[in-house]
Amino acid sequence: MSKLLAGKTALITGASRGIGYSIAKVFAQQGADVAFTYLSSVEKGQALEAELLALGVKAKGYKSDASNYNEAEKLVADVVADFGTLHILVNNAGITKDNLLMRITEESWDEVIRVNLKSVFNLTKAAQRTMLKQRLGSIINLSSVVGVKGNAGQSNYAASKAGIIGFTKSIALELGSRNIRCNAIAPGFIETEMTGALDPKTVEQWREQIPLKRGGTGEDVANACVFLGSEMSAYVTGQVINVDGGMLT
Ligand code: NAP
Repeated sequence: MSKLLAGKTALITGASRGIGYSIAKVFAQQGADVAFTYLSSVEKGQALEAELLALGVKAKGYKSDASNYNEAEKLVADVVADFGTLHILVNNAGITKDNLLMRITEESWDEVIRVNLKSVFNLTKAAQRTMLKQRLGSIINLSSVVGVKGNAGQSNYAASKAGIIGFTKSIALELGSRNIRCNAIAPGFIETEMTGALDPKTVEQWREQIPLKRGGTGEDVANACVFLGSEMSAYVTGQVINVDGGMLT
């Protein structure tokens, strides 16, 4: 079978670990040239670059803070200079700073909104120029089931992830006539480093409550990104796809 992303260039933010790492690997396996970012995990970023190159695609890692407007502008300019084009943007970088409202500080509220939501604005705005010129592009934003449903103790994170959904739908409406699609993915409980720090008992309870009876993997989310990045989804825009084992059903 031919590779679903052959001939495409993708930029994935926050690919040194977790879901972003899986997206980068699966995209390269599907034939995409992959530019990706990391922030603090420099060695992991360098190791990923080598892994992707070994898959026979063009690949490059960039140390870049997605929440910084100027760095995002420079990043996209560098990627376009290095790769010659940009077809798929995956806004994956994200953080949590969970707490009850009474304990959330102004600083941690601002940081979660800046890293999770402003980053999506920064990168999408920077990438749209190239996508508009070529009249082709797919933007994929990582939201969360928490952005759809809300979650006690995560009001900052939920607000950032719900904000991503409003942004995604608006950009789909703005850029649809230029053949640029914009969709969101709402993962449920995906077992990564972000969730690895949790109490094993809690994790077991969560698994039990999921209709498919397991946590998701990075590959589960990456496969949905392949669909949205490829021509298989040519008529899909402005949507939120839940990848959650049926959790919200
Ligand atoms: P993770 O394992 O903590 O990895 C986060 C990644 O984001 C890392 O590569 C990190 O890079 C990068 N990052 C953080 N801040 C950044 C910044 N300012 N600029 C650039 N990169 C930055 O997280 P994950 O579980 O894979 O989650 C990935 C995305 O899926 C997030 O948006 C998250 O909200 C969403 N999500 C996750 C789950 C889940 O169950 N895991 C569920 C729903 C949604 P460094 O390590 O280099 O700093």
